[in-house]
Formats: sequence, C-alpha cells, structure tokens
Amino acid sequence: MIQTDFLVIGSGIAGLTFALKTAKEFPDKKVLILTKAATDETNTKYAQGGIAGVMDLQKDSFEKHIEDTLIAGDGLCNPHIVEIVVKEGVERINEIIDWGAQFDKEADGDYKLGREGGHSEFRILHHKDVTGKEMERALVQKISEFPNIEVVKHCFVVDLVTQHHLGYLVTKGTPNIECYGVYVLNANTNQIEKILSSVTLLATGGNGQVYRSTTNPAIATGDGVAMVYRAKGRTENMEFIQFHPTALYEPGLRGQSFLITEAVRGDGGILRNKQGEAFMERYDPRKDLAPRDIVARAIDSEMKISGTEHVYLDCRHMDMKKFVEHFPNIYEKCKSVGIDVAKQMIPVAPAAHYSCGGIKTDEWGQTSIRNLYAAGECASTGLHGANRLASNSLLEAMVFAHRCFIDATLKTKTKEVRQPAIPIPDWDAAGTTHPKEMILITQSLKELQQAMSDYVGIVRTNVRLGRALKRIDLLWEETEALYQTTTLSPQLCELRNMITVGYLIVKCASLRKESRGLHSNTDYPFKSEIVQNIVL
Ligand SMILES: Cc1cc2nc3c(=O)[nH]c(=O)nc-3n(C[C@H](O)[C@H](O)[C@H](O)COP(=O)(O)OP(=O)(O)OC[C@H]3O[C@@H](n4cnc5c(N)ncnc54)[C@H](O)[C@@H]3O)c2cc1C
Repeated sequence: MIQTDFLVIGSGIAGLTFALKTAKEFPDKKVLILTKAATDETNTKYAQGGIAGVMDLQKDSFEKHIEDTLIAGDGLCNPHIVEIVVKEGVERINEIIDWGAQFDKEADGDYKLGREGGHSEFRILHHKDVTGKEMERALVQKISEFPNIEVVKHCFVVDLVTQHHLGYLVTKGTPNIECYGVYVLNANTNQIEKILSSVTLLATGGNGQVYRSTTNPAIATGDGVAMVYRAKGRTENMEFIQFHPTALYEPGLRGQSFLITEAVRGDGGILRNKQGEAFMERYDPRKDLAPRDIVARAIDSEMKISGTEHVYLDCRHMDMKKFVEHFPNIYEKCKSVGIDVAKQMIPVAPAAHYSCGGIKTDEWGQTSIRNLYAAGECASTGLHGANRLASNSLLEAMVFAHRCFIDATLKTKTKEVRQPAIPIPDWDAAGTTHPKEMILITQSLKELQQAMSDYVGIVRTNVRLGRALKRIDLLWEETEALYQTTTLSPQLCELRNMITVGYLIVKCASLRKESRGLHSNTDYPFKSEIVQNIVL
C-alpha cells in the first residue's frame, strides 16, 4: 500500500498544472502523479490549434470572448463559469509562459494570434501547429524541478476507493460519499494495489476511443468518467460529443486519425465536395468558419448525398511558404501519405474529438464525491454547454486545475481533508483466472465502436439510439461476466469503461428530447424551451 498527500490521475495539462501548484505550495508533502501510458502520451500533446485568451484588451474584450463561448454553447453554458474561465484564463496563460511554454510571435514581439470557427476576434495563442506538444513539454520539464512530485508511468487506475469497499451500501442517493484513493494495476507484478490519499484529482482526459474514428490517442477511453459513475458520483451532459470536421481521411484506418486543425480554414482553406463545389455557403453564412458542429453536419450531409467517405480541404490557392511555416506538421503528414498540399486537395472526414460533458463539478472542481476533484476534459464544469468553442479546452483545464488547487489547499490547511484512518481492504481477486482469449475483448471493442459510430454519431434518431442501447446492454452483460472471472488487464478495464461511457452517451442522448448544440436528433429537430442539464 502507498500513501500520499495529493494523488493526481493523469499527466496532461490539467493533472500537471495541479501537481505543480500543489507541490510548490506544500514542499513537505508528497504529490503522486499516475499515468497509464508514457508521461506525455496525452490528448494535450496532440492539441494543434492553440489556446484561446484575451491577451490584448485594446483589440479584444472579455465580453466578446464570453459572448462567443455562450453562442457556441447554445443556451446551456453556465454564464458564471464562462466569465470565470475567460477572465482568469489570461493569468493562467501567463503562468504557463513563465513556466517556459513558447507561443509564436510577430516580428514586433506581439503574440501572433490565430482565429478559429466561432471566435469573433483573433485570440488563439499557438506554437506553430503543435501547441499542445509545446505546452506538455514545458509542464513535464517544470515538474522535474520539484523533488516532492513523483510520476509513476504505465500505472492503470482501476477504481476509486469509497465506503463501498468498506462494506457499506453506496447508492446514487447516499450522501457524503468519500474517496480514499484508488486501486491500481501494477504492470510489473500484475497485481492490484491500493494507493491512499486525502485529496484525489481525476484528470483523465477524453473518451474519443469509444468511436471508430477519432482524433484522440489510445489513452482516451473515458476511465475517469466511468470510475465516478461506478462509485455512484454524478456525471452530466455526456451526449455532447464534438466531432472535428476535418480529420485526415485514410482508407481503412481505425482509431486515432490525424487532425487538420481549423486554423487551416482560418487561414483560407476551403471545403469542397466530390464535384469540387465549395459547399459551406449553402449551410451557413460564415461558410468554412462556421462553428464546428455546423461544419461537421454539413460534411456529413455532403458525404451522405454523394455516398463518399470524405470531402476535400482545398489549400492549393494558399501561400505555401506561409502554410509550411504555420502548419509544418500537417504539411509533413500529408506528404507522408502522398498528398502534396500545394497541388492536391486533402481528403477529410469528421471524427470524434472532444467530450463536452463529463464528471459534474462545482465552480472549484469539486465532484459530488468528497475529497475528489476533476479537471480538464473529463470534467463537466458548465463552460462548454452544448458545444465547445474551439481552443477553450486547454484554457478550461488550466483554470480549473488552479481552482482545484485553491480549494484543496484551503481544505488541507483547515484539515477538512485528512488521510483516511480506516483500514482499506485489499483488492479481492478470488475466483479469477487469466484470460484465455484476447479476441473476446478486442471484438467487443470493435462492436462497441461500430455501434457508437453508426447509431450515435453526428446525426441521431430515436430508432438508432434504441438500437445502440440494445447492443451496449449485451456487450455490458458479456463484459461483466468476463470481468468477474478474469484477472484484470488494462484492455479489459478500458473496454468496461468504454462500455459505461457509451451507455452514458446513449442514455443522455435518449433523455434529451430536442436538438441542441452538438446533439442533433431528427425526431426532435427543434430546441426545447426547457433548458436542462442531464445528470446521471
Ligand atoms: C488532436 C487534438 C487536437 C486538439 N486541439 C486542441 C486545441 O487546439 N485547443 C484546445 O483547447 N484543445 C484542443 N484539444 C483538446 C485538448 O487537447 C484536451 O481537451 C486537453 O488536452 C485534455 O487535457 P487533460 O489534462 O484533461 O487530459 P489529457 O491530456 O488527455 O491527459 C489524460 C491523462 O490521463 C491519464 N489516464 C487516463 N485514464 C487513466 C487511468 N485509468 N489510469 C491512469 N492514468 C489514466 C492518461 O494516461 C493521460 O496522462 C485537442 C485534442 C485533440 C485530440
């Protein structure tokens, strides 16, 4: 058993920001970061476009950024949270700059600000087209300066420890559910161990892997959301999955697709259909710079009309010197698959990209479970509402990691949180044996991804949602049987988590009897007058 003072699950922007601040505030306390892959293998590393922030109050304003965020969120944002994130965000951006992150500058030393869909001003700080990689680099570098931070890589967190593990009946109605730490799968010994802590932060990122095609890396399996749901905590608005309109289309590819950032359209890239027609003007007056959900639905519709699996992004008319300078990564990737951006159009298709809902938190990142915080993509803070404005997620992650830190600091100093005194039982693996066939896990995952992509994609119907639920129920039954009788592996735990997340997405989508933001159901084409969050 390991005991720590602050336990951080996840080494992306949210987890590392929280860890840094806590380690600095409490030099005599231990901060333990657990991550199931390599330290920098996170969604954060893949962020391209940048981070939104009102850096120049002469040319931009908080009000405009707030307004843009509210418009994108389609009536479901919490305006108080939007104001907090936009206003506090600037300080957080300056902090990461102090920690060493570099953003592109103009010749005169001002930041080179980009503009993306839904933003009324140029306010996106970026580092070429690899902003997340640069931010992650700076954070990983910075945490190495703190001797009281320990990072344990390839350590899979299986479940939260709560009163349930002490033998109490815990239900959704149980008041004061408490988190004492986590059970983890030790990759070296293949044993389940317990790690106890007075404060735990979930910063486990997104869940794009639930779909067949996603811009998210393999780690994005929604583990934190599933753990909280299992522990009877609250999750909300899981139906709002953002599909990025322009992932590079590579025939036959499954899993992580390469993203072509919106900034390419910001710089003049034009979407064209099979006939070469620039179709966006038929869907929205903002054309290629309309919000992502509108662009994704337009592409989906063009693909359905023409029966193709992709449309094209045309950059041939753009200044190639500038293109290569701004988007070196995209240029090289296209070249590597035989596309010369200067001469050929890039085939693109929508892919699951971002989860707007997640673990429900209050304005300090506190979840419905005591001593448990959530920040970053796994959390639902109220910022995004029914649709995330581009480049607001890195910002939200930093603002809420900071807020979790403030709240946890206060509670640690007032001794409101303390080390769990109760003896926590070891993991009970009795009656389990090694899995005989991995195919049972890999095939179930394929079935889940197929059902989610076919029935719970960009446009939904009641019939499709009903079908998805039936298939998920069956997968759930089979996987639970496997889980009860098999020694655990990360693959099995991830499958179980993804089935839970799939269930939450479908269930929330079924309960939302309207079309709003990212959730489009042709059986309820209009927005309801009742504005509600769906909490499960
Ligand atoms: C291709 C791409 C481009 C993007 N572009 C932008 C952009 O330009 N601007 C923007 O604002 N946002 C962008 N986003 C979204 C943004 O990158 C993410 O929302 C953000 O980085 C999430 O950060 P995070 O700290 O919450 O989680 P992540 O960075 O995803 O980190 C999650 C961590 O949790 C760990 N973890 C998960 N489950 C477990 C477990 N069971 N046990 C142990 N560890 C676990 C993982 O190993 C990882 O370390 C983009 C996302 C993608 C995929």
